[in-house]
Amino acid sequence: MSYVDDVLALVQKKNASEPEFLQAVEEVLNSLRPVIEANEEAYRKEALLERLCEPERQFKFRVPWVDDKGQVQVNTGYRVQFNSAIGPYKGGLRLHPSVNIGIIKFLGFEQIFKNSLTGLPIGGGKGGSDFDPKGKSDREVMAFCQSFMTELCKYIGADTDVPAGDIGTGAREIGYMFGQYKRIRGVYEGVLTGKGLSYGGSLARTEATGYGLLYLTREMLKCNGHDIAGKTVCVSGSGNVAIYATQKAHQMGAKVVTVSDSTGWVYDPEGIDVALLKEVKEVKRARLTEYAAARPSAQYHEGRGVWSIKCDIALPCATQNELLIEDAKQLVANGCMAVAEGANMPTTLDATKYLQENGVLFAPGKAANAGGVATSALEMSQNSERLSWTFEEVDSKLQNIMENIFHNLDDAAKKYATPGDYVAGANIAGFLKVVDAMNAQGIV
Ligand code: NDP
Repeated sequence: MSYVDDVLALVQKKNASEPEFLQAVEEVLNSLRPVIEANEEAYRKEALLERLCEPERQFKFRVPWVDDKGQVQVNTGYRVQFNSAIGPYKGGLRLHPSVNIGIIKFLGFEQIFKNSLTGLPIGGGKGGSDFDPKGKSDREVMAFCQSFMTELCKYIGADTDVPAGDIGTGAREIGYMFGQYKRIRGVYEGVLTGKGLSYGGSLARTEATGYGLLYLTREMLKCNGHDIAGKTVCVSGSGNVAIYATQKAHQMGAKVVTVSDSTGWVYDPEGIDVALLKEVKEVKRARLTEYAAARPSAQYHEGRGVWSIKCDIALPCATQNELLIEDAKQLVANGCMAVAEGANMPTTLDATKYLQENGVLFAPGKAANAGGVATSALEMSQNSERLSWTFEEVDSKLQNIMENIFHNLDDAAKKYATPGDYVAGANIAGFLKVVDAMNAQGIV
């Protein structure tokens, strides 16, 4: 068996109960085959892939807190410090009932390559908890965040591991966690990113993932002879990434006609009203039924169905495995030309393959949504300098980073794989830098 197959079998055996992690490893290792096979014996001797697939360290801990009725609740907290070859661990904290160690490992593994692609000195990590902030009072969210950070603060620091937001962790949660870190550790440092502007946050961090997704999508279309202006776009999700992707798509002259949440979706043929969406989701923290009730042109549907709407560009921005093979078939039948992933691993492996085989331009999440972590790294730089850059300064750096990422993966696809295979391009470009650093640092 080839070295890649040996390692895939080993990873499957060791992590049999973690399907999302296995899916991520399989996708990455399969696309690295041309690079590994060119250097197979050296990589095998150094056990390079075994080291890459084994987190440097992982923590699992109890998070007890008291709800508004005086009842003690217990959640599980996680932090996986996956790979620090090119910099301190960096990656978000997901708060969602579906969180388990396999999901955190898949996200941490993806983060290694994503962070490498940004060109910035950040390693890969991820964390979170099965706590659900939905329906909780501010006091309950604070109680959870303080308890979570009371344990997490032992393992993180501005030069070691710098968590950020993710699903369920927005500005409110980061604020409570930062306050508790400072209280316990007694240091005012950039230990978290996604902070509020009054205490070390960066302008444009809120917008960065969604904006970055559109900067990369525009560059990918441009390099393939298309213009984003005038295109119809389907977005899924209605959280941070979806909202700012929709806003930037509109600014670029495209029209976004769908958004969704975990209970249903909206089709708005006149184009999503971003101000209304922000009011419903960011201010009221309400369901999309409220958007539809306030907007005569919008139709609300229960369940899933965003990908049934005819569009030129699809931007999945909700969660993992939300674009399935049947959705891919529908998109292709409807003439969709490009899919760019705002979420992490939203497209299943068979759906990705189908889209690519049918000539759809496909930008994987680890490249397309890297704008969030890139801007987090810019927040770290500002914190270290004790300076704040303007919105325009950060936004223009973000734009450069996203365009560079696209060209890196485009070049890597041409050099090592198949031209236009941006999945392979992203994995290979991300991998080469990390491997170079791992090799230079010896067997650690
Ligand atoms: P938010 O919590 O702000 O929004 C998530 C959105 O996805 C909500 O609309 C939510 O609906 C929906 N959603 C979540 N889980 C499910 C599910 N199981 N089924 C259907 N819909 C679901 O998160 P973000 O926008 O920050 O993150 C979205 C994705 O982007 C994630 O994959 C995240 O890892 C990725 N990402 C985020 C970055 C960031 O900077 N925020 C950076 C890079 C990647 P509901 O409100 O009903 O739960």
